[in-house]
Amino acid sequence: MPIKVLNKEVVSRIAAGEVVERPASVVKELIDNSLDAGSSQISIEAGGGGVSLIRVTDNGVGIPSGEVELAFDRYATSKIGNLEDLECISSLGFRGEALPSIASVAQIDVVTCAAGESVGTYLSLKDGVIADRRSQGRPQGTTVAVRNLFRKVPARLKFLKSLATENSHIANVVSQYALAFPEVRFTLFIDGRQTLGTPGSGRLIDSVIEVYGLEVAQNMLDIKHRDREWESGVAVAPPEITGMVGSPTVSRSGRGYLSFFVNRRWISSRLLAWAVEEAYHGLLMSGKHPIAIINISLPHQEVDVNIHPAKAEVKFQNERLVFSTVQRAVRQALIELAPVPKIEEVATAYVSPSGRGQVLSTPARSDSNLTTLPPVAPQIPAVSLPILRVLGQLSNSYIIAEGPDGLYLIDQHAAHERILFEKIKDQRSRQEVEVQGLLEPVTVEVNPKQEEVLKSRYEDLAEFGFSIAPFGDRTYLVRAVPVLLYRQDWTAVLKELLDSLSDGDKTNWTESIAISIACHSAVRAGQALTDDEMRELIRQLEQVALPHTCPHGRPTMIHLSSGQLKKEFGRAG
Ligand code: ADP
Ligand code: MG
Repeated sequence: MPIKVLNKEVVSRIAAGEVVERPASVVKELIDNSLDAGSSQISIEAGGGGVSLIRVTDNGVGIPSGEVELAFDRYATSKIGNLEDLECISSLGFRGEALPSIASVAQIDVVTCAAGESVGTYLSLKDGVIADRRSQGRPQGTTVAVRNLFRKVPARLKFLKSLATENSHIANVVSQYALAFPEVRFTLFIDGRQTLGTPGSGRLIDSVIEVYGLEVAQNMLDIKHRDREWESGVAVAPPEITGMVGSPTVSRSGRGYLSFFVNRRWISSRLLAWAVEEAYHGLLMSGKHPIAIINISLPHQEVDVNIHPAKAEVKFQNERLVFSTVQRAVRQALIELAPVPKIEEVATAYVSPSGRGQVLSTPARSDSNLTTLPPVAPQIPAVSLPILRVLGQLSNSYIIAEGPDGLYLIDQHAAHERILFEKIKDQRSRQEVEVQGLLEPVTVEVNPKQEEVLKSRYEDLAEFGFSIAPFGDRTYLVRAVPVLLYRQDWTAVLKELLDSLSDGDKTNWTESIAISIACHSAVRAGQALTDDEMRELIRQLEQVALPHTCPHGRPTMIHLSSGQLKKEFGRAG
C-alpha cells in the first residue's frame, strides 16, 4: 500500500484509543474537567458498567455558550495558550483531547451554563457530529452525559471485563479523586445506588473514612514532614509531602492501597510505590502491603506531566530527591507516631556496667563501641581464659591485667575484634544479626569490579545485615546496615569488603564478611578506655571460644606467668 495520510475519522479513532481505554477513563477525564472548572461538588453516575451511561455533573465555571462546540474540536483547550505554558502545567487537562476523543467513541450530551449567563446551552453529538443544539436552563455548571460507549468500536467493547470489574474501576477512580480533593464533595451512583459520598470538608480523614472505612481511618497516621536537611541548606528544595499512611496494623495483601498525587494529579509510579514499601521495611509481615495517601507538591516546572497518553505517569526532574523525600516522610510518620516496634530500637539501649548507657540512635558518636554492645549471650563458655583483674591501660592500646598465674598484656583492638567476630558469626548462624534500618536509603556507587561481587553476594551480605538493592547505573540503594557498622563509615567498609572479596581466592565468603565487620567496628589502638570499659572487654573476652588470637590469626595477648616473672627478675622458684 502506498503511503498516505489517514483520514480524520481514523485519526480521531486512533487518538481516542489512547485516551479512552475503558469506561473508567471517561470518568477520569470528565472529573478532571470538572475540577479544572473549579467545582466544589461533583456527582458521578454510571450505568451498565459505564458502557450504557456515564454522567458527570458539576457546579464549576461552565462553558460559555459561544464555546461549547469548540470544546469538542480536537486540540481545543482553555487551559494552555503557548509553548511556555506547556512547561508549567497547573491544570489537570491541557491537551484538548478528552471531549473530542470521547465524542468519537460514544454519544455525548452536554448541558452547561457559564457564570453570568442567564440561560444554559444544550449540545448533543452522535459519532462526533453535532446532532442537536438549543438553549436550556440550568444553574451554573456543567453536565456531560456519555452513552453507548464503544458501540462503534466492537473490538474495544469485546475486551472490556465484566460489569462488576468496570464498575470497580470507576469506583476506584472516584475514590482516588476523593482522596486527592477532600474539599470537593463527590458522590458516586452506580446503577442508581449511591456507593460513595464525601462531605467535602477539606479534611483528608473524612475522605479516608468514606473510601476505606472507619477502621482504617482510625489507624491512619498524618504525614507531618519537615525536611531538616533542606533547612540546613542543601542545594535543591525537596518536594513537600503531605497525606496519611496506615499504621502497620492495617496492612493489606495487595498493592492497590497506595495513592500518589503529584500537584494533586493522581499518578501511578512504581518508583514511589517502592519508596513507600521500603519505608515500611521491617514493619510489615511479608506479603503485606501498606495503605498510603501521598501528596507530593513541587514547582510545576520540576515535573513533566506530558509523557503519558492518559497522563497517568509523570517524569520528575529530580527523581531521586522525590524518592528519598517520600521515603523519609513516610518513615518519619511511622517512627514518630506509630505505636509499633521500630527496628531502630533493636539492640540500642544497653547500659554498660559503669551505668553510662549509650543509645545507638542518638546522633552523638559514641566514643567506644564497647558500651553500646549488648553483653555476649550467656552461652556455655569455653573458658580458655582465666578470670582476669584489670590493672590499667598502656599506651591507650593495651590492657594490663592480672590472672591467677601472672600478668596479661592484651591488645585491645585484636581482643575486641575476636569478641565481635564470634558474636557476628553466632548471630548470623542464629539468623539474629542486629540490623540498623536507615531512615532514608543511601545510594552507593560502585565500580564494575565491585559490582560483580555485589551482584552475586546480596544474600551473603543480607545475612550480615546489609540490605542492598540495585538502583541502576552501578548505583545501589542501601536501606539497612549491620548495627555494628552504623556509626562507622560503612560505605567505605562495604567497598573495601567488595574489593577484598573480588581479589584472590575467597572460598570462605561469610568468614571474610564477618572479619571485615569485626575489624572495622572494633575499638582502635590509641583509644583511651575507662576501667569499666576495660573490665567489660575482658569479661567478654573470657567468654569467647578462641580468646588468644584475633580473627586474622594474630595474638590478642602476651602472657607472662609467675614463673617467667620470677625467672626474669632472677629469683629462685
Ligand atoms: P482539556 O481538558 O485538555 O482542555 P477537554 O477536551 O477535556 O480538553 O475539554 C476542552 C475544553 O472544554 C476545556 O479546555 C474547557 O474549557 C471546557 N470544558 C470541558 N469540560 C468542562 C467543564 N466540566 N466545565 C467547564 N469547562 C469545561
Ligand atoms: Mg480535559
